[in-house]
Order: sequence, then C-alpha cells, then structure tokens
Amino acid sequence: MPAKSLYPDVEIPDVGLWDFLFERKDRDFPEDKVIFAEASKSNRTYTFASLKSAATDFGKGLKGAWDWQTGDVLGIFSANSIDVPAVAWGCHYAGGVVSPANPAYTADELAFQLKDSGAKALVTQAPQIPIAREACQKVGIPENRIILLGEEKDPSGGFKHFTSIRNISGTQRFRRTKVASPADDLAFLVYSSGTTGLPKGVMLTHRNIVANTLMISAAESEQLSWKPRPDFPEGDVLLSMLPLYHVYGLTVVLHQSFYKGTKTVIMPKFEIETFCDLVQTHRVTFAYVVPPIVLLLAKHPIVSKYNLSTIRMMNSGAAPLTKELVDAVHDRINVPVKQGYGLSETSPTTHTQPWGLWRSTIGSVGLMLPNQTAKYMSPEDTEVPVGETGELWIKGPNVFKGYLNNEKGTANALTDDGYFKTGDVGHQDSEGNFYITDRVKELIKYKGFQVPPAELEGKLAAHPSISDVAVLGVFKEEQATEVPLAYVVPNAGVTPSPKLEKEIVDWLAERVAGHKRLRGGVKFTDEIPKSAAGKILRRVLKGRYEEA
Ligand code: AMP
Repeated sequence: MPAKSLYPDVEIPDVGLWDFLFERKDRDFPEDKVIFAEASKSNRTYTFASLKSAATDFGKGLKGAWDWQTGDVLGIFSANSIDVPAVAWGCHYAGGVVSPANPAYTADELAFQLKDSGAKALVTQAPQIPIAREACQKVGIPENRIILLGEEKDPSGGFKHFTSIRNISGTQRFRRTKVASPADDLAFLVYSSGTTGLPKGVMLTHRNIVANTLMISAAESEQLSWKPRPDFPEGDVLLSMLPLYHVYGLTVVLHQSFYKGTKTVIMPKFEIETFCDLVQTHRVTFAYVVPPIVLLLAKHPIVSKYNLSTIRMMNSGAAPLTKELVDAVHDRINVPVKQGYGLSETSPTTHTQPWGLWRSTIGSVGLMLPNQTAKYMSPEDTEVPVGETGELWIKGPNVFKGYLNNEKGTANALTDDGYFKTGDVGHQDSEGNFYITDRVKELIKYKGFQVPPAELEGKLAAHPSISDVAVLGVFKEEQATEVPLAYVVPNAGVTPSPKLEKEIVDWLAERVAGHKRLRGGVKFTDEIPKSAAGKILRRVLKGRYEEA
C-alpha cells in the first residue's frame, strides 16, 4: 500500500501562475510591501506593485519586440539579480516559458540548453556577454535577441537592457496571454540529468508550481509572516543566496516569498562575511542554505564576529546534511537548521521537516508535503512495505509533465499511474519522517549543483590519452559535499603519472562549468567494470574506492 501524506490535502486552483500570484483575491498584504531586496550597492527593492508593473511592461515588450507567442522559450543566463522575477513573470505574461541556465556554463553547455529548449531570446548580464554571444551564434539566435540585466553596462553598448524592452513604445495595447490549460502549459523548463544520461528539459507546468507553492505554504503556514512585529517592522525577513537558475531558488524562494508577502534579500553571490553582515543589517529571521554553507557557519572564524541571533530557522536542501553539522551550527550560533528534500522533477519540494521537529528528527528530510503519495520499491521494482528501505517513487500535482522531446527518458521516469521514480533510496519511520540513505541513480551533486557523470564521461572519452573512463561521486566530509572523481583506463603505451592526472583534470576544466571539475582527481585502472549490456557498474567502482 502506498503511503499518504499526513497533511490534509490542499485545494489547488486551476489557474496559471500570473493569476495565482498577481490577481488573487485572498492576498492579505499591501501592494507597497517590499518583497525583494537586492544585497548589492544599489540596494534596489521591488514591492508587489512595482514588480507587477515591471513584469507587465516586460511581457508587453516581449510581445512588441519579438511577437512573443504562447510556449515561446526565454533563456535566462544570469547570476542572481533582483530583476529575474520581473523577467520570468513577464515572460509568463506574454504566454512564454522560462528556461534558466547556470551563468558558469561554457558556450557549449549553454548552446546545448538553448538548442534543446528551442529558446527564442536570451537574458544575460554584462560579464556573461562573450559566452552568451558565442552560444547564441552556435544555435542561430540573432544577437539582437540578447537582453541585459543588472547594473553593469555592456562595454560595447551593443546590447539592449531589459528596461529598454520594458519601455518600448506602443506596447500598451498588448494584453496578457492567459494560460489555457494550467496542467498542460509549461511555466519553466529546468535542466536535470534525472537518473541517467545527459541533462534533459524538465517540463514544469503552471499547475506544478502553483501546487508546490501551496503545498509548502500549507506545511509551514504558521511560521513565516509578512506582518510587522515589535522588533521586526517588516515582518519576517528571508535571506537567500540560492541560485535563481536552480529549481530550489527559482520556485521555493521566489514563489513562496511572493505568495506570502515576506521580504527576501537576494544575494548575487555567496560570501560568508557578506552573509553574516546581511543577517545583522536586515535582521534576517530565516535563511535558505545548502550543506557547505552550514559547514562554514559551523567552522569559519569570521562568524564569531557577528550576531546571527535574529535567525529563527534555516532551511537546508539540495544535498544531504549530516547530523554532526546541524549540531555543530546549533552549538555555535544557537540557530536551528531543518532540512527539505526534492528534485527538479517535483517542482521541487516533496518533503520538509516541520519546524518543531528539527531536533527530534535530526537527519530526516521531514514529512511528505500534502497531496502526495509515496511508494518504496525494491531493485526488482516490487513495492516494499512502508517502513522498509526502498527507492522512493512519488506521485502528486507537483510531479513534472515529462522530459522535453524525450519519450524514452519520460517513460523511464514516470509510471503509467503517475509515479515519479526519484532514484533516491530511503525509508520513513513510524511517524512518517523520511530519511534518505542512498541513491540508485548515477547523479553527483557538488555543493547542490548537478554533475551528470555521463556528460563528463562523454567529454573525457575524447581525451587523447584515455581509452575508457567512468566518473563517480565521492563524499568529502571536510567540504560537506560530493566531488566528481574519474577512473581512467589509459590508452596503450600511455604511462599513468601524477603529471598525466593533472593534465586530464586541467583539460576537462577548460571544457566544463566550474562545479563539474574533477575535484576528486583521477584514478588509473586497467578496466572499467561493466555489465553484460555494457553499463558501467558504478557500485563496484565505489566499493573499490572505499576499500582503497
Ligand atoms: P535537483 O534536481 O538538482 O534538485 O537534484 C535533486 C537531487 O538532489 C535529489 O534526487 C537528491 O539526490 C538530492 N537531494 C536534494 N535534497 C536533498 C536532501 N535534503 N538530502 C539528500 N539529497 C538531497
């Protein structure tokens, strides 16, 4: 029997994100409430009203400039900027789909996503222009469809700023494109390698994101509030450095804050002292983090110089967090850390620890959010009783529609009756708290970022000294993260050496985004263990690594 969420179901209105966020009848916070603040010299902010107006203008501008149509994809290739919400929701205004990409991508990585998603235009920032331009050239996006965000001006002066799209004259006549079918129409196309292979376009519908926002809100409804309190005139203040190009930041942070009216301070980039300083300056009450940041808060000397006691809770997600770290941070700064869990394919959050249970269920990723059911499956794909360990399969309104143009990948990930195979292994205890204990998929996560082994293997296979290769993730306790490591079979006549190892590591570093570098190094071997069907036996390699 599948396990049901212990929360009562929440009602999910059949509306698109624009109606859900901007036109809702039950909004209880004022239009001039500041919701986003940028932690930069500019100190810019957006209120509900100013964001609605910026997104409306940008949406009209997209229609006016490029005849934006339902389903047209807008790529965003940018570090965190306070303008990202206006761009994303402006694209929705025009009926479009948003596809965010990591600003550290190489031109090839970006071109892959632009081509796969069929992006029609790209939003970026000045430092990313050279890569953006090269990638757009590769896939045939005209240069005049590159739009800039942020304070920094384009040194060449050749690219339009997003404000110029907002201000195109004559666009006031355009009307909003309504979402015809919230359960079918896409809102976001994020990229994930899923359980195997190369990154794929995860189709997240309007309903997926509306549902997940309400599911999270139902489980945490009593906790965060925009309402002024004596010491906190702005109500709760959230701090987030989570990348808005990853599903965690994009949907959990943006949508949740905007729905609840709580102020979120957006950091363009994480730096520990800036983080501590911002907590003090803005009297932050809640922070979104990932395990390597929890590690810094537990260990970094600079933390002692600051008073972080306004934080009532931190939420860690995207990768496993150890009990030791939760204890260490609490002992040091007296701030609790709870965990959440989810995936790109589940919009993302499926589980989160209730605030009151952060200590008694330490190590757990919490309870299943409302409207979901879970099955636990054996390696033979038979259901194991609830309470026993198995691969988590999950069903709910937050489960994605499928991978873009990839029937096989979709069929492997989704069952006919709507369960999504997470590739993560765990169990729930008798109170429903879920624990992740293993992963059956090949994915590696470096500091919360995806590193698909198949992608690195594909690139490394082209190295002149390599005959065969397998990449796996190994956990580095001192960095609170996994790192990728390559097992390499050298070509005949090539002698393994530390020089060759360095050469391979550097060679790959020139071809991939920073988070995909071989930080675990290279191990030379005589053969890569494979199944009869030629599949790499990663478990055997992992065992070999652990024994060594
Ligand atoms: P992504 O699609 O990039 O969000 O990656 C999802 C994957 O991150 C999951 O399938 C897990 O393997 C991992 N993950 C996310 N949150 C947690 C967590 N709290 N603990 C352990 N692993 C996690």
